[in-house]
Amino acid sequence: MTVVHIRNVDIVTLDAAGTIVPGGTVVVRDGQIAYVGPGHPDMSLAPDQAADEVVDGRGRALLPGFFNGHCHSPMTFERGWAEDLPFDRWLNEKMWVAESALTPDDVEWGARLAACEMIRGGIVGFNDHYFHMDRVAAVARESGMRAALAWCVFGIGAQSEVGPGFEGTLEWIAALNEHGESQGRIRAVLGPHSPYVCPPEFLRRVAEVAHERGLGVHLHVAESEEQVAQSLARHGRRPVQHVDALGLLDAPGGCVVAHGLALDADDTAVLATRGVHVAHCPITYMKLAMPFPPLAARLDAGVRVCLGTDGPASNSDLDMFAVMRQTVLMEKYQTRDPARLAGDMPLRMATRNGAAALGFLRSGSIEVGAAADLILVNLDAPHMRPRHDLVANLVHAAKAADVTDVMVDGRWLMRGRTLCTLDEERILYEAERRALDMVRRGQHQLRTYRS
Ligand SMILES: [Zn+2]
Repeated sequence: MTVVHIRNVDIVTLDAAGTIVPGGTVVVRDGQIAYVGPGHPDMSLAPDQAADEVVDGRGRALLPGFFNGHCHSPMTFERGWAEDLPFDRWLNEKMWVAESALTPDDVEWGARLAACEMIRGGIVGFNDHYFHMDRVAAVARESGMRAALAWCVFGIGAQSEVGPGFEGTLEWIAALNEHGESQGRIRAVLGPHSPYVCPPEFLRRVAEVAHERGLGVHLHVAESEEQVAQSLARHGRRPVQHVDALGLLDAPGGCVVAHGLALDADDTAVLATRGVHVAHCPITYMKLAMPFPPLAARLDAGVRVCLGTDGPASNSDLDMFAVMRQTVLMEKYQTRDPARLAGDMPLRMATRNGAAALGFLRSGSIEVGAAADLILVNLDAPHMRPRHDLVANLVHAAKAADVTDVMVDGRWLMRGRTLCTLDEERILYEAERRALDMVRRGQHQLRTYRS
């Protein structure tokens, strides 16, 4: 049992009251936060908190780590490979061609590259939706990150799947649960692609399995008005109503809807009532020129909103500071209301709300008893001075490269900008080589998107 003291640090707790402790101490014991407060804890009262390691946090802010609410981490391999295209051509002509050549090794190295980038930017947990999730689970184990993993399935025939299909993914989930990992850092959820690709009978089966086995669901829903029109024509219901009628939104392990850009008031009410988490990924929407409304109506209705990078093929990075800032700027701009997403709300969306969406309910704040998923951010930089408002500087001025140290579950994943768990030099070499080779091999379009 290692005890770490982080001292003389400005603590942004993101607790219910939004407490900030200037020059305080956090004690981490056994992966949990054992003390938060000003000065030093009284060791005579808590002899079991004597430090094995003391970190001087002067010139740093300590905050809960980020949770990436929606991504496709192995798509680092397609970063910069499908530029300046509309969504349908980006998907049909590029993504679904590259994936025809995808191997489990590609997934693993792509996820490793993503893990390096995410840790460097203060992300402690990611909500992944892609193929060969057994390999991404291996990367989560190796890196020490938290992860909620959805093995993407289409339900339109074996020739369109990447991997073993739905039944095969269920075996993987059962094996992961058997090892007890779903109680710890790695969770598995069901990953149907979307109601615009998956047939209703397949989605109904996914919902049944979720309810039988107590699992969560993570899928894409209502990304455009065209998808709404298609859903009305095919199923007589809007996408949200359609997946709700099939039983997906009240999956017992929680439901994460990626995007949800084309929602009416009824859709919004359903998402709020069902406690669905909506992952908002504004950089993808802007880059692919996808119209999207402000978050105001969803937030006012009580929908749980978290933030995601989406895949690096459409973002093109895994930077939650950038996502947070773009979210705030677009929201203020679209609503013409500079008071929208005020104060520490953006930080809460990127940390607490994301942790809840991924099912890590003890993460996302700095409080006694919470999981020690923490990041230190450098304040000794020109863009972080002066210090009128620490939270405003963190939301509007801080950058991923300002993160100096990252801890998950009480274990250091980065110390002084050096990764502790991953061999970064080897990963950059392997990922570069394999990514170039993969897109060369991609020959045919696995599936077709039609709106
Ligand atoms: Zn996505």
